Amino acid sequence: MRSVPFFNYPALFTSQEAEFQRIFADVGRRGAFIKHRDLEEFEKCLASFLGVSHALGVGNATDGLEVALLAAGVKDGDEVILSSHTMLATAVAVHFAGAKPVPVECGPDHLIDPAAVEAAVTPRTRAIMPTQLNGRTCDMDALGRIANTHGLLIVEDAAQALGSRFKGRCAGSFGASAAISFYPAKVLGCMGDGGAVVTNDSRVYERASELCNFGRNSAGEVVRWGFNSRLDNLHAAMLLFQLNRYDDVMRRRRELAALYTGRLDNVAEIGLPPAPDSDRDHFDIYQNYEIEAEHRNELKQYLMDRGIGTLIQWGGQAIHQLKALGFTQHLPHTDWLFTRLVMLPMNMSLSDDDVHYVCDNIRDFYGYTQ
Ligand SMILES: *Cc1c(COP(=O)(O)O)cnc(C)c1O
Repeated sequence: MRSVPFFNYPALFTSQEAEFQRIFADVGRRGAFIKHRDLEEFEKCLASFLGVSHALGVGNATDGLEVALLAAGVKDGDEVILSSHTMLATAVAVHFAGAKPVPVECGPDHLIDPAAVEAAVTPRTRAIMPTQLNGRTCDMDALGRIANTHGLLIVEDAAQALGSRFKGRCAGSFGASAAISFYPAKVLGCMGDGGAVVTNDSRVYERASELCNFGRNSAGEVVRWGFNSRLDNLHAAMLLFQLNRYDDVMRRRRELAALYTGRLDNVAEIGLPPAPDSDRDHFDIYQNYEIEAEHRNELKQYLMDRGIGTLIQWGGQAIHQLKALGFTQHLPHTDWLFTRLVMLPMNMSLSDDDVHYVCDNIRDFYGYTQ
């Protein structure tokens, strides 16, 4: 039987083992572990790739989101509106920045619903924090209009969206600041934790750098309370190597998504993500391939029995469903959606034949001919 794991962790290393070994030896022999030229170069290349003025390597995207909020000016007692369909990290970052996370419904493409954002604005709202989910960028025109009308900041959770674009602009470049993740299973992954804060505002960049470096400014003076959150220089060197080939990654992921669409489009029991180039405004990079499925749990088991790994994002819990954290929102659409969501394999180890095998089995499950 064919085996199609949801994500092949060893392949992250083995698919580029010789280059990673060379980088490891080079960085190790130079003793270049913290804040060296590899990090500086990666930050420059990342900023230029995204079309932003500044990128700052941080320990992980959760730290990055907190720093992005604090550096943009979010304060104690503020409210920050986010999609309930996001990682816990988004809400955690808001909480530890001293603000209150306000989860709202998502729309048909699973990204935050601008109408729900508008309805959740109160006099205490300070920011909208859209998650650029699954490698797709929200309708930033609609969110920008709401932010302008109510004088709100936009801080993007672009953890899943490196290279994703809306009307030609990259996720991470729309708001006051944003964070990106280099967790191993992310589109650009390192061998551990890593992240970046990006911004077009040099004051936000300075504050973010200070926050992540014990409150020290570029002259080494302590100017505020800060903590320690840095991207390892070794990881930066490995990420830089991969960023230089990242166009191929986006192309391949879009190709896989098109293959899924071609095979599954006429299966009435499932709902697919928007296909690549299905509208002119979005350029999606398919961090995940998240479908809606009738009899979701049975389908998941059926595929597992046939060697196919799938994953239910966030362990199947939306933010507002985390009652232990004190959420009281009633979000019926998200509740309904979360009984249907499942992610199919979508990664760089996947062959075309693997995708056909996954699709054959989904079609079998619902009783379709091949
Ligand atoms: C992965 C992820 C994060 C957190 O990233 P880390 O680098 O693991 O801290 C935040 N938000 C979203 C949407 C994510 O997918």
